[in-house]
Amino acid sequence: MYQHRSIASFHGLLDHGDITCEQVVRHYLQRIEATRHLNAFIDVYTEEALERARTLDQKIASGVPRGRLFGVVVGIKDVICYKGHPVSAGSNMLRGFQSLYHATAVERLLAEDAIIIGNLNCDEFAMGSSNEHSAYGKVLNALDETRVPGGSSGGSAVAVQAGLCMVSLGSDTGGSVRQPADFCGILGLKPSYGRISRYGLIAYASSFDQIGILGTDVQDLALMLEVMAGPDDFDSTVSLDPVPSYSSQLQSDRTFRIAYFRQALEHPSLDPDIANGIRDFIAQLQADGHTVEPVDVNFLDHIVPTYYVLTTAEASSNLSRYDGIRYGYRSENPGTDLDSFYKQNRSEGFGKEVKRRIMLGTFVLSAGYYDAYFTKAQQVRRQILNDTLLIFNDFDLILSPVSPTTAFRFGEKSEDAISMFLADVFTVYANLAGIPGLSFPIGKHPNGMPFGVQVMSNRMNELTLLRFVKRSFPGML
Ligand code: GLN
Repeated sequence: MYQHRSIASFHGLLDHGDITCEQVVRHYLQRIEATRHLNAFIDVYTEEALERARTLDQKIASGVPRGRLFGVVVGIKDVICYKGHPVSAGSNMLRGFQSLYHATAVERLLAEDAIIIGNLNCDEFAMGSSNEHSAYGKVLNALDETRVPGGSSGGSAVAVQAGLCMVSLGSDTGGSVRQPADFCGILGLKPSYGRISRYGLIAYASSFDQIGILGTDVQDLALMLEVMAGPDDFDSTVSLDPVPSYSSQLQSDRTFRIAYFRQALEHPSLDPDIANGIRDFIAQLQADGHTVEPVDVNFLDHIVPTYYVLTTAEASSNLSRYDGIRYGYRSENPGTDLDSFYKQNRSEGFGKEVKRRIMLGTFVLSAGYYDAYFTKAQQVRRQILNDTLLIFNDFDLILSPVSPTTAFRFGEKSEDAISMFLADVFTVYANLAGIPGLSFPIGKHPNGMPFGVQVMSNRMNELTLLRFVKRSFPGML
């Protein structure tokens, strides 16, 4: 029985011959089999993962150099392309589709000898906060199976939470890595916009999307990030900034200047026990020598509307490619003309939430409303970014709740899209501003579920973020 503590300690076990890659993969395959009902995985690459593990074990025996992620067992969200493997964005629209190429992130993991064990369930096209919108059915939170795991990367969070892989990849357009990590009591990192290539990531909202990492150890996240980050010929939005060797630079004695939004901690939607837990955490940080101060912001109420105008607009454009002609779902009742053919394919292939967003996005982009909604939201986004950059003149980090509540029960919000959207208030901010955010657990709610906090740093300054978390993360609950 293998218990993952960190990639570094796993490598120690391999070095001492205490364990083999094949044993570890077998362990995970058994765990996955025993927890099938959680519905975290869509496909498990059993034979292939074992084969790769055996090849890696031979590498140890023959003494050839090993990659930085040697034998690390990774699960990937069903929006990330792995050549020759199914990828469907949790949607019937793409059910049965196989990736024609590797996402850059996946290619880089494989080049460092990682083992990809399967693809993970998620909300359809990464739209959602509860994993109730997947064509493959809901994912269960392993800590309380009557509760949601969060979304959209719910499968990625549960896979780590339930010990079904060492680390996982998710995608974060408005919180989809940080919020499920929070609901499941693990760590979730959304890097800066443009830190990791989006090539091979199925697009939801291209100016927000970013691949993220879920795990249980800060150094694991740092190592995964440094492997995947950096320029890529296939994505011109990737930053050309050099990628620091994050994992070897985490130790730091410095204290940090940390801001929090007064309006966020006093937000009427924030559960009082979570607010108190965060206040206690702030007191601990101050006792540890950090400066933690409230700042007043006036944009909090504009965050969610701005996000949902812009992301639905981008989604309506991105998802127009799924017409059933080139690939994807094709109706058995295609009608007699091209228009009804498209309509039929898209009406049957997409689920309710995706259709809601395509319609919203089409509306805000329509000639009569473009300026009132889309242009306005772009201006608000710019204002939020400007205000954010000013805050980083005086502070290293911004601290915030992750979600107003702990993991809620299935069905609690699914009939009320607005209440689901409003619960994204604390996470979508980082995506609007393009800044990195890391959520980590800090306590247990009286209802038995974990809750955490997120910290955000300035663009491309993941190192500060990771150093702070290395120093201040109280440890897994
Ligand atoms: N819950 C948010 C949404 O539904 C975030 C999704 C995401 O980050 N992919 O848009």
